[in-house]
Amino acid sequence: MPLCPMRQMLDEARKVGYGVGAYNVNNMEQIQAICQAASETKSPLIIQASRGALEYTNLIYLKHLMAAAVEESPDIPIVLHLDHGPNLKICKEAIALGFTSVMIDGSIDYDKKTPEGKHPARSFEDNIRVTKEVVDFAHASGVSVEGELGTLGGIEEETHTDKVLLTDPAQVEEFCKRTGVDALALAIGTSHGAYKFKHEPVLAMELISESRKRAPETAFVMHGSSSVPKELVDEVNKYGGKLPGAMGVPISSIQEAVRRGIQKINVDTDGRLVVTAAIRKVFAEKPGEFDPRKYLGPARDALAKLIAQKMRDFGTAGHAADYEPKSLAEMKTLYAKK
Ligand SMILES: [Zn+2]
Repeated sequence: MPLCPMRQMLDEARKVGYGVGAYNVNNMEQIQAICQAASETKSPLIIQASRGALEYTNLIYLKHLMAAAVEESPDIPIVLHLDHGPNLKICKEAIALGFTSVMIDGSIDYDKKTPEGKHPARSFEDNIRVTKEVVDFAHASGVSVEGELGTLGGIEEETHTDKVLLTDPAQVEEFCKRTGVDALALAIGTSHGAYKFKHEPVLAMELISESRKRAPETAFVMHGSSSVPKELVDEVNKYGGKLPGAMGVPISSIQEAVRRGIQKINVDTDGRLVVTAAIRKVFAEKPGEFDPRKYLGPARDALAKLIAQKMRDFGTAGHAADYEPKSLAEMKTLYAKK
């Protein structure tokens, strides 16, 4: 099966009413685990890489690892997506590498020489201008685009801001019309990282329903959607970790968000936690072990199990064979008609 355009994958999810997880990857074991989970549960899949991941893997390694994933999973529609693209230049690089979708995060100005955690928010007009530029370029190659309106807080590589500005539903319609984005990340109160909330999370669910009415054909994306399950945090801490008070978004909240109109669910932190817990366990229980396969292997198995459960929880499971992926050439023709 060829790579799938994100537009098509999320249109299908919206029509049927389920969510598709987008999982961040940096190395071979993560990619293998996620593809294994998708094959086992027969789920369409979004593999995403941040700018940090592109730097860490020196681009070319990630490109070939992703190509291997696609080759090895002929029955699964797969989207290769750039997460939090900071500008047109990086989006162009990702498209040249073969990504079928890019995110341009026009909500934050990454280009100023600002200290980490202090990146300023862009104005609505500037966000539209920066986003439209990427949409024009990407759609000319049939590639899908995700934008962001409002800002997410928290710590994720290259996405640091100290302010959380919830999306204003009144701006959603105009933003989608003027930019032509295929998908839009809504800021509903989640944040990146393992420390999302001090107390029980309060998410602006109404904001999703309100936005869904105003932009009925745009896919909506929820960032910072790891659940940070207590058992997993306890497991990390039990084997020498130190993650006090980590907290995430419960599965029930994600399911409600999907019912109200979210199609893409970004998950990174939970994958990091499960890998760390598995490796710490081996180190604690078998201090004489020094073959990387003996701890990376269990980490890969644990990650595959975690992701398979998410695919069932998000409703993605069983939908891999619902449609034939369109080619980017077909998408290009469709975009040209609009
Ligand atoms: Zn994000």
